Amino acid sequence: MTRHYNFCAGPAALPTTVLERARDELLDYQGRGLSVMEMSHRAPEYVAIAEKAEADLRELLAIPANYKVLFTQGGATQQFAAVPYNLLGAGGRANFLTTGIWGKKALAEARHLFGDAHVAASSEANGHHAVPRQEDIVLSDDAAYLHYTANETIGGLEFDYIPEVRRLDGSEAPLVCDMSSSILSGPLDVSKFGVIYAGAQKNIGPAGLVVVIVRDDLLDRARADMPSLFGYQALAEAGSMINTPATYSWYLAGLVFEWLKDDVGGLAAMDAINARKARKLYAAIDGSELYSNPIDLRNRSRMNVPFVLADERLDKPFLAEAEAAGLLNLKGHRSVGGMRASLYNAVPEAAVDALIAFMADFEKRRG
Ligand code: PMP
Repeated sequence: MTRHYNFCAGPAALPTTVLERARDELLDYQGRGLSVMEMSHRAPEYVAIAEKAEADLRELLAIPANYKVLFTQGGATQQFAAVPYNLLGAGGRANFLTTGIWGKKALAEARHLFGDAHVAASSEANGHHAVPRQEDIVLSDDAAYLHYTANETIGGLEFDYIPEVRRLDGSEAPLVCDMSSSILSGPLDVSKFGVIYAGAQKNIGPAGLVVVIVRDDLLDRARADMPSLFGYQALAEAGSMINTPATYSWYLAGLVFEWLKDDVGGLAAMDAINARKARKLYAAIDGSELYSNPIDLRNRSRMNVPFVLADERLDKPFLAEAEAAGLLNLKGHRSVGGMRASLYNAVPEAAVDALIAFMADFEKRRG
């Protein structure tokens, strides 16, 4: 059995020790004689799994007590609709920072559902190579909240700061963040946010699960016409079990949280490893004649590193030879082409070292 190095943008690599533990527990979970997949979500042993996962996530991110943690479904894409439904009940407009494809999709969904939405700042003019600075952000005076994408997974563009959210009259609006591709990559001050959401299939666990972290005072702002399954208040009251949750994905997420706590040593340790991995790869790209990355230095994503080859006729051989060397899923998103190496938490530093060595060798032979 060989596990190759997997640079997929999502569904992404999972820690090998997590998969080994899932394998060991697959047929017979802790002597119960059945798999976690086959348990009722109401069974006490499953409820214990679910509660432990939430407790570990709360500990990892130091989530304050006045926040609810929801384990829901529908992908991050469903939150593009769920957020405005939950937060626009008292009127006002959704405000957006758009820094790439995912932020624009969130904006488009808000407009599709509720007509108007305000773009408070965008990096469109610079080709999404640098995020707007704080002084460029202009909220509408009827801003119900500001939504942004902490890390644009396709463009490889990451915020290097947490925006402050003041309307023109000086009042504060809630900050909503899509953290699908950067959550748990390092420590986070959750208290700065009204809502954080993240699809699981990058840094949390398998697809099928979405984690939402929502501040208590935002639970009573939902629109009356909201589909009931979207409701943060109802989900919180039901322990995320209004209906059957994605039980196995939730269990695996719990194993990933335990791995982060016990094997990695928490998010400060994870942060240092991620910083090192990204620094090395960008240095290799910048030091070469063949590879390049266009993103402003302070906004280069630590999780998703897109790069192009100087001659795109080399793309095919690059990918074929990389795959033969056990370096998988380096093809860039279909909308932008080129390459992308996703360096999520579960991608070990040795994978990055192997990629850098391969890239140098390829350049020597073909560059
Ligand atoms: N937001 C971001 C930042 C993403 O990277 C993705 C998926 N790649 C999405 C939203 C959409 O996620 P999902 O497929 O879970 O709906």
